[in-house]
Amino acid sequence: MPIDSAVIRKLVETTSERIIARTDELTALDQAIGDGDHGFNMKRGFEAILADADRICAQPLPQALHAAGTVLVMKVGGASGPLFGTLLMSLGKAMPAAPSRTDATQAFAAAITAVKARGKSEPGQKTMLDVLVPVQSALIGDRPLRAAAAEAAAATVPMKASRGRASFLGDRSIGHMDPGARSSEILIGAVLDVLEGKV
Ligand code: ADP
Ligand code: MG
Repeated sequence: MPIDSAVIRKLVETTSERIIARTDELTALDQAIGDGDHGFNMKRGFEAILADADRICAQPLPQALHAAGTVLVMKVGGASGPLFGTLLMSLGKAMPAAPSRTDATQAFAAAITAVKARGKSEPGQKTMLDVLVPVQSALIGDRPLRAAAAEAAAATVPMKASRGRASFLGDRSIGHMDPGARSSEILIGAVLDVLEGKV
């Protein structure tokens, strides 16, 4: 599927709408193991992307991704803005304008590497990486991506956090889904729905 400006607009709108619709759920997850701002942070970031959609969507895919990531870095306080912003900016840097599946897989790997560097984090620490990395593995292994994302987000529940605010809770972080992992699952589902023509 060519990623033309209509698809880019659909990606921007669908990812933003899904995140904004889940604000309360993301807030509740962050109230359990953080400071309760994750829903608001993500809502604010994606509202800013929507407000800037004309400029973002007028650009080819790599530049559009980079521009959307820059908006998140600039508009969102908290850990999630710089981290999701880095993810999108790095995806943009590594993605050709008309990516093959292999190109997209490699760009996603590069973006994950950038998030790890920015967050000084690795999978297993109860963060967004615990969804991004398993989805990357599923992409390489040609396994179903939605199921991989859902299983990976659920698998953060029994984890003990060792990065981000949730790590301050120690063992009390066990038993709750990581908010950034859930956001990642929502974003991945939205991207797949657009690329597969389901919305
Ligand atoms: P804050 O933690 O500053 O309040 P948010 O609540 O918006 O910011 O985002 C929290 C989410 O950010 C966590 O659920 C986790 O997924 C992600 N996160 C936090 N720190 C890191 C890190 N060092 N590396 C990767 N992801 C992180
Ligand atoms: Mg928070």
